[in-house]
Amino acid sequence: MNDRVLHHASERQALVESIQGAAETWSPQQVLNWAFERFGNRVAISSAFGAEGMVLIDMASRLRTDFRLFTIDTEFLFPETYNLMDRIEQKYGIAIDRAYSVLSPEEQEGMEGPELWARDPDRCCNLRKVEPLRRKLSELSAWITSIRRDQTSSRSSARRIDWDTKFGLVKVNPIVDWTAKQVWRYIHDHGVPYNELHNQDYPSIGCTHCTRAVRPGEDPRAGRWPGFAKTECGLHIIEPLSTPLE
Ligand code: SF4
Repeated sequence: MNDRVLHHASERQALVESIQGAAETWSPQQVLNWAFERFGNRVAISSAFGAEGMVLIDMASRLRTDFRLFTIDTEFLFPETYNLMDRIEQKYGIAIDRAYSVLSPEEQEGMEGPELWARDPDRCCNLRKVEPLRRKLSELSAWITSIRRDQTSSRSSARRIDWDTKFGLVKVNPIVDWTAKQVWRYIHDHGVPYNELHNQDYPSIGCTHCTRAVRPGEDPRAGRWPGFAKTECGLHIIEPLSTPLE
């Protein structure tokens, strides 16, 4: 049974339920291979090019030369992140598909007023991240992410293969049980490129407006949306599996 016959989301959800338990014992490479073989060109890696994402891109490149990779470009990313994107395209010989908000930064300012991120970061993330992601995911049957369970409380129950109730497709998380130490060991062992900001106390990197370096002893995600209780941009919130599908 391949994706050509899995027309309905309900069939894909049943597939997830049938394989989810067994997949917990698979290696990241086995999980990636399963996703590539099952979904062909209807699966893509989603990445913001953090350390975890770089591990996944490197692993995928050793399995396939033609995998799909996309990013949500908020147009507020650091120069170091854009530089890393160029290096990835060069090293791995792939083109990064960039999804943008329907609003340019100037149009957003015109409609919402200046510095929306400082007043209502949830709305800003919805406009610049969640809505473009929803459009991109509507082209796909499955997406591959580099989330890890110990990054935030809302990621702690993630499985290697999940049903994404929020966006209605299969969500594949090959390194969900890895630690930060494993991630960095892989990067150093395999000569994987990474964002230069990681060397300047930025363990987690997003938009320029909402990311700062962390101080010694702080949580690695303390530098994201400083001053707000927000810890997620809304892309990886886990919702109960019982949510109706279609
Ligand atoms: S991280 Fe900040 S600037 Fe980026 S989309 Fe979210 S609120 Fe806007």
